[in-house]
Amino acid sequence: MSEADTLSRKAEFPGLITPDGARWHYLDTAATAQKPQAVIDAVTRALGRDYATVHRGVYCRSAEMTLAYEAARRRVAEFLGARSENEVVFVRGATEGINLVAQSWGAANISAGDCIMLSQLEHHSNIVPWQMLAERVGAEIDFCPLTVDGRIDLDAMETILTERHKIVALAHVSNVLGSILDVRRAANLAHSVGAKILLDGCQAAPRMPLDITGLDCDFFVFSGHKIYGPTGIGVLWAREELLESMPPWQGGGSMINRVAFEGTTYAPPPQRFEAGTPMIAEAIGLRAAVDYVEAIGLERLFRHESGLAADARAALRRINSITLFGPEESAGIVSFVMEGVHPHDLGTILDEENVAIRAGHHCAQPLMGCLGIPATARASFGLYSDESDIEALIRGIERAKRIFAT
Ligand SMILES: *Cc1c(COP(=O)(O)O)cnc(C)c1O
Repeated sequence: MSEADTLSRKAEFPGLITPDGARWHYLDTAATAQKPQAVIDAVTRALGRDYATVHRGVYCRSAEMTLAYEAARRRVAEFLGARSENEVVFVRGATEGINLVAQSWGAANISAGDCIMLSQLEHHSNIVPWQMLAERVGAEIDFCPLTVDGRIDLDAMETILTERHKIVALAHVSNVLGSILDVRRAANLAHSVGAKILLDGCQAAPRMPLDITGLDCDFFVFSGHKIYGPTGIGVLWAREELLESMPPWQGGGSMINRVAFEGTTYAPPPQRFEAGTPMIAEAIGLRAAVDYVEAIGLERLFRHESGLAADARAALRRINSITLFGPEESAGIVSFVMEGVHPHDLGTILDEENVAIRAGHHCAQPLMGCLGIPATARASFGLYSDESDIEALIRGIERAKRIFAT
């Protein structure tokens, strides 16, 4: 993306301006992305003149809303490169998607003595649901170590994996280090011992082209709010025959075939996993977000954001009190610490300069333990980020250095 291009994009994001009209250097897109006006408008319309329930009403508005909701599902399926829209389950977010897989597929397929393979860089959302399952059924969890530059070490995984492993669940892109998983190899390794593979795609879906069928994975999850869409909506993708084999995990309206006092038969997927009134306006907002990023092109977004991350690393490396983490090739996410300045203090000083970074453990406390630090500062880029955001970051860091030197 050219400079002019990103500058014109910034104007489409009302959230990138401070209340007093200044430019806000938002470098926390990995936590949640700002929303383009097109998404805000789509949600407003869905909650306004188009609003009605789905899958129930006999009146025209409801039938139209049902079509729009199901069109959103088809759009997401197409975006992911899925074979069918029946492979797309709408959930509240990636966290709910992983909990669904753990509680439905996991409880039916993992039992005492089985193993679950995670990695040391996983987000808490891809650790805790598996720990809860492991505790319930008596399974064990292995955490694949990382390479020195912060990638999941697949050579190590190859030596650890056994036929006791039933599932391998890994971040496609690390939310702390920006490291990118070699998905094909990870999927091959998992399948070679008969395990399924789940990808936590929270940071990959907004940043790189996906071809879910070609990646040969079994489950994929992501959150709408990290791909410029609303909160409260996310996607679980799974191969259709896998979804068909899975028991429901929540009961209620919409997920049934027929309910009687004697018992209930369940709807086929994806409805089987969408109990209750779904996130209607949120699904329509997600569709608008998918339209938005695809109109720019994911290939182009990847080049743009990984280019900014490389520039930020180069600029940070010139400051002698900074230590960088993660591999040189990062998908738009840079973690670092500054000698003598706690990341929280750095975050506060940068906030005074209208620069928003994340400081803390980034919901990856086990990873912080591996790195031997309690917290990092993290700058993460989005499609609206540009060099001016990096310059503001560096200015703020230089100021923090002066403050802490005195
Ligand atoms: C944000 C994030 C999650 C959790 O997503 P929610 O939207 O909070 O459900 C999980 N994994 C990674 C890698 C993330 O970045």
